[in-house]
Amino acid sequence: MLDMIFLEHFGITDAGKVRQNNEDSLLLGEGRDPTLFAVADGIGGFEAGEVASSIAIEVLKGMGPDESFDSAIQEANRRILAAAREDERRQGMGTTVVAMRFSGSQEQPEAEIAHVGDSRAYLLRDGNLRPLTEDHSLVAELVKSGDLTRDEAAEHPQKNLITRALGAEEEVEVDISTLPVGAGDTILLCSDGLSDMVSEEEIQRILTESSDDLEKAGRRLVSAALEAGGTDNVTVVVASVREQEEAPADPPRRAEDTTEFGPIVPAADHGGRSSNRKVSTATRDPQKARRARSEARRRRRKRARRVGQALAALVRGLAALVVVAALLSPIYIWGNSRYYLSFQNGEIIVHQGLPYTVGGVKLNKVSERTGLKKSQVKGPYRNQIQKHRLYTKDEVTKILRDLRRS
Ligand code: MG
Repeated sequence: MLDMIFLEHFGITDAGKVRQNNEDSLLLGEGRDPTLFAVADGIGGFEAGEVASSIAIEVLKGMGPDESFDSAIQEANRRILAAAREDERRQGMGTTVVAMRFSGSQEQPEAEIAHVGDSRAYLLRDGNLRPLTEDHSLVAELVKSGDLTRDEAAEHPQKNLITRALGAEEEVEVDISTLPVGAGDTILLCSDGLSDMVSEEEIQRILTESSDDLEKAGRRLVSAALEAGGTDNVTVVVASVREQEEAPADPPRRAEDTTEFGPIVPAADHGGRSSNRKVSTATRDPQKARRARSEARRRRRKRARRVGQALAALVRGLAALVVVAALLSPIYIWGNSRYYLSFQNGEIIVHQGLPYTVGGVKLNKVSERTGLKKSQVKGPYRNQIQKHRLYTKDEVTKILRDLRRS
């Protein structure tokens, strides 16, 4: 009797305890490729984050099994940029994405993982959790360069600064990797609303304890994030590779929650083909989800006043972080690079970036030595230069032209 490899999964998203909107989106195998799962975490005001993350998920939904992650994610990136151009309230919107799909042979099933930004994939194997993705974030760069440890990064005030996103530039660099998987492996996809709030040790513990019941595992992970503060939208997708010795004679236990996908990975008991992988999918229970949402609403109202103040502070903090992130040099996130001028040894220097150093990383570089002397600068420009006022590239060009003329 052939061993059957099949896939079980569960996914859940929660707005959290602070945010009004849920800007995360998820895909649970309901697209053209039933083995494809994804989490996207949107960014941008006026509900634009929701728009960006749902565009990413829509595009992945339409992705065929033969299509590459890279081309699908480039397409999502283009559509987000186009949607942002059409509506000025959506300018600067973007999204992270982490996606996985299963392929390979019965003898050697594989998971392919693609990601952009700081949404993560983890593998739980033999009770050990290990990351499958490396965040595209400032702190991850600092960890790579040896300036921070992983633990320090987890506590870092700038940990939410991402250095890659869909919707930022015309082309997006996608990290893609393939991993052999086997029965007993569980892959977790999550937004930073989980990974920021719950330690990897805790995630490992919960996943290990509830590995037989993915719905329980997913719900426990979300609860842990909420209990830790729930300051962000939290999304969790878990998929486990299972094995059973023969095709099940009985219908699956939760028939209404379970789908079999014959054409892609035919089950031995359907269609009679010799291929013997099966994908089954447990979807969210809408009633439970509704109950959870109304419970979350009740809790939110109770904390409304306190949270209102915290939220205002948080929004201010996040806005500041986003600005810093946007201006990071050499890493740019949203749109335009920024410039400022300084005096060095009596000469005007043009800098690209921000006049700050964050966590030991200089956020600027010299863009041009103008040859213009400090003594030539009079009036308001002198003050602006001393205060490192920020300009666009065009403004800098105009200022230098003015100064050269005078
Ligand atoms: Mg988030």
